[in-house]
Amino acid sequence: MIYDAIVVGSGPGGAIAASELVRRGHSVLMVDRAAFPRDKVCGDGMPSSVIQKLTELDIKVNSRAFQHQRIEGIYLQSYSGRSLVIPERPSNMYSMVAPRLNFDYFLHQHALACGVRFEVMDVVEPLLENGSDGSDKHVVGIIERRGTQRVEHEARVVIAADGASSVIVRGLRGRVASPEETAVAIRAYGTPRTPAIEPLVRFYYLRHLTPGYGWIFPAGESRVNVGLGLFDQAVYKAGRKDLKTLLAEFLDSVSSEFSIELDAQTVKSWPIPVWTTMESRVVNGAYLVGDAGRFADALTGGGIFPAIVTGHLAAIAVDRHLHGASLSDATRLYDESWRQGLGRSLKRLLTVRDTVIARPRVFDGVMLAGTTLPFTKKLLLSNLAGQHA
Ligand SMILES: Cc1cc2nc3c(=O)[nH]c(=O)nc-3n(C[C@H](O)[C@H](O)[C@H](O)COP(=O)(O)OP(=O)(O)OC[C@H]3O[C@@H](n4cnc5c(N)ncnc54)[C@H](O)[C@@H]3O)c2cc1C
Repeated sequence: MIYDAIVVGSGPGGAIAASELVRRGHSVLMVDRAAFPRDKVCGDGMPSSVIQKLTELDIKVNSRAFQHQRIEGIYLQSYSGRSLVIPERPSNMYSMVAPRLNFDYFLHQHALACGVRFEVMDVVEPLLENGSDGSDKHVVGIIERRGTQRVEHEARVVIAADGASSVIVRGLRGRVASPEETAVAIRAYGTPRTPAIEPLVRFYYLRHLTPGYGWIFPAGESRVNVGLGLFDQAVYKAGRKDLKTLLAEFLDSVSSEFSIELDAQTVKSWPIPVWTTMESRVVNGAYLVGDAGRFADALTGGGIFPAIVTGHLAAIAVDRHLHGASLSDATRLYDESWRQGLGRSLKRLLTVRDTVIARPRVFDGVMLAGTTLPFTKKLLLSNLAGQHA
């Protein structure tokens, strides 16, 4: 069978792309190497724009949908130790911390409920065909590894939503992102020995890892999600310490405030390909979505919202293509639509990182202004919480 579309990956980007295509009447095969529910290494933090976007897509989020912790504000600590609490305005569209085990399963189930066909499959590379007129190779499907066999699956369009180690993107371009475009992050779940933890996401900027930060997020059920996000690999490598050591040092540095017992099995690290350029996210006819398209924001590493948005926009462009628009028109539609809204805010967040966060004295000055000026406070909240206005 030749599907209208094959979506590789059932994370937030893939699940939304697949369900939006099926809702538009297309036959879609979504594949993932993992059976769901599955964990994804993540801080689990989501700005209020995630609920806004899901609501726009008619996906209802409430306390029964999946386990999550509602967030009431953000705690920021700059390199010098200056700190600030910025409350979030109460609203139905709130920020949350939702363990990905549950959140991704919720979106995956939504896709199945929409009529998406799903198969667990280890994809090894894109299936390519030479252009009839001698033009560039074109992606016409995927190749699965089944035991010692390689099995081909064909589709009119392929959407690569297979994350930071995307085999589709590596098969087309050699790598997903350069070291300069790749943040590294480590996360773990733990239990605070101190009883109550406020519903705040806590960011601690760390001078020796500029522009990097440690986080402590309340994950519900008296658990916390803790971790480190490092955005300059040169700084990380020069420090000659591995991520586990750096995480232990970070938790030591906050131990007078929080004493946290880590669940050793959950200590895991993973790269984050961050957004740096407006270049096209359609390669050899394949549409790149979420981490596979380097859409995480370069300031916080937040990639869930961008994955959902690009999954939706890719589905709109692919729908046009399947209804007869040329590949170049559909490519233009996808690129122009993500550049206009999401692209602008990703650019802003990258600029804030390079002009404020990467300069400790400037960052301290901004924090000082934030304690007195409501406008600066609001600006800090929207940027540092990774909001996409
Ligand atoms: C430590 C850490 C902390 C983070 N914290 C946050 C945070 O707090 N908030 C936030 O917004 N973002 C955070 N991020 C980023 C966020 O996790 C990603 O940006 C987001 O998951 C991207 O979604 P996606 O759908 O593109 O890809 P993914 O969620 O990675 O999904 C990709 C899917 O593809 C599947 N897949 C991969 N390869 C294959 C293959 N060969 N064959 C078949 N299937 C395959 C995988 O199994 C997976 O299910 C963090 C990242 C890390 C590493």
